[in-house]
Amino acid sequence: GRDQQTRKSGQIIAIANQKGGVGKTTTAINLATAMAAAKKKVLVFDLDPQGNASTGFGVDRAAREITSYDVILGAAHVDDALMDSSVPGLGLVPSTVDLSGADVELADLPQRNFRLRESLSTAKLRERYDFVLIDCPPSLSLLTINALVAADSVMVPLQCEFFALEGLSLLLKTIEQVRASLNPRLAINGVVLTMFDRRNNLSEQVADDVRAYLGDKVYNTMIPRNVRVSEAPSHGKPALLYDHRCSGSQAYIKLAREVLGRDRARAA
Ligand code: ADP
Ligand code: MG
Repeated sequence: GRDQQTRKSGQIIAIANQKGGVGKTTTAINLATAMAAAKKKVLVFDLDPQGNASTGFGVDRAAREITSYDVILGAAHVDDALMDSSVPGLGLVPSTVDLSGADVELADLPQRNFRLRESLSTAKLRERYDFVLIDCPPSLSLLTINALVAADSVMVPLQCEFFALEGLSLLLKTIEQVRASLNPRLAINGVVLTMFDRRNNLSEQVADDVRAYLGDKVYNTMIPRNVRVSEAPSHGKPALLYDHRCSGSQAYIKLAREVLGRDRARAA
């Protein structure tokens, strides 16, 4: 019937940048929430040992029994780790500090770059979700490589500051290498400029430089620096639930529209 014809073909998006503090986790949490508000089925996969995405969704550390660590090592099925988040329609695979040992453990395993891809495809996530967002750690470790191999595309949050472009070229080179050997269809989903401060000339300058360098890979929506966005995680809530009217929440709603629009254009 019709239901079978409209079977989902979800997108797996790695949110990656080897620099810490650029807005990966904030983007994973709030983009996912805005997508869920737009009636999409979304899964956030926390692949950072810091577990900030899990905390940001209000999942207590004590409640994280089966985690992304077990999933990537093949010790558990995604569904065993899957938890409801504080957001309806949004699932979470949490992480704990255990995951910090995974890099060393993965190094000795066969198919070490393909572990996450294997686990996600066993769970048929593309048929069950519209979007799976993988929140990557701040490194180009085996964890991040696993995410880039499992993903259809990579989204890069870029903080509008002086060294932003320097780190970006290393990331782009890594993406090229992954494409050349491990995942030929990995696309660049887009670059999101974060923590934009319009009162700061440097912010404007960096945004202009990034657009000149990457053209339409850069999303039009820029995420402003907004204190409500930084307060939300300590309340265990996405900014969109903490204060949906603040400028940061509104920007993530706009970003979600842009991401969904590009996804429809790609699928058409
Ligand atoms: P990453 O995951 O790349 O390490 P985070 O998303 O954790 O980065 O963001 C780093 C810090 O900056 C966090 O304290 C977060 O709350 C804050 N932050 C992120 N985006 C914004 C924003 N738009 N406005 C204000 N603070 C932000
Ligand atoms: Mg993070």
